[in-house]
Amino acid sequence: MAFTLPELPYDYEALAPYMSKETLEFHHDKHHKAYVDNGSKLAAEAGMDGLSLEEIVTQSYGKNPGLFNNAGQHYNHIHFWKWMKKDGGGRSLPGKLASAVDSDLGGYDQFRADFINAGVTQFGSGWAWIAVKDGKLEIMKTPNGENPLVHGAKPILGVDVWEHSYYIDYRNARPKYLEAFVDNMVNWDYVLEMYEAATA
Ligand code: ZN
Repeated sequence: MAFTLPELPYDYEALAPYMSKETLEFHHDKHHKAYVDNGSKLAAEAGMDGLSLEEIVTQSYGKNPGLFNNAGQHYNHIHFWKWMKKDGGGRSLPGKLASAVDSDLGGYDQFRADFINAGVTQFGSGWAWIAVKDGKLEIMKTPNGENPLVHGAKPILGVDVWEHSYYIDYRNARPKYLEAFVDNMVNWDYVLEMYEAATA
């Protein structure tokens, strides 16, 4: 099945001032679209276009870097748009998720510090994550288009630390962008939805 670019689940202005309309226009309409177009073409060339996106990501890892990076980025961005919302972020975690953060990640403040640190210390382009591995939450970071699926884990929250995600709004201040993501943008309801699916 060919990859398709999903619509943003909110207006281009919805995340301002933390993420501008201009950033979302470039990031969604140009960068994500390029992953969709290139990934579709490369998946067809590899004879993998009958597989699910998750299968393409895990099966191309370490074997077909061009396809892997585009398919991985398509997967990552599909969720990234849904991991944000207007007036999101902060401590408003649904109860079940708050309990898991308390027991597995040392509580909200520890999660916030470790998640931001993972994003700050991801050298170059990549992602920081909360993933479920062996039934427990873990903070992870990965380079380029990689994600926790290839490490036997299921991502439930990810933040894009490619410069295309923050350079227009924050220039080189990646830590400020990560703080704004956690404090003002995270859609905890969608994180819960992925947590429940990952632990079902
Ligand atoms: Zn991106």
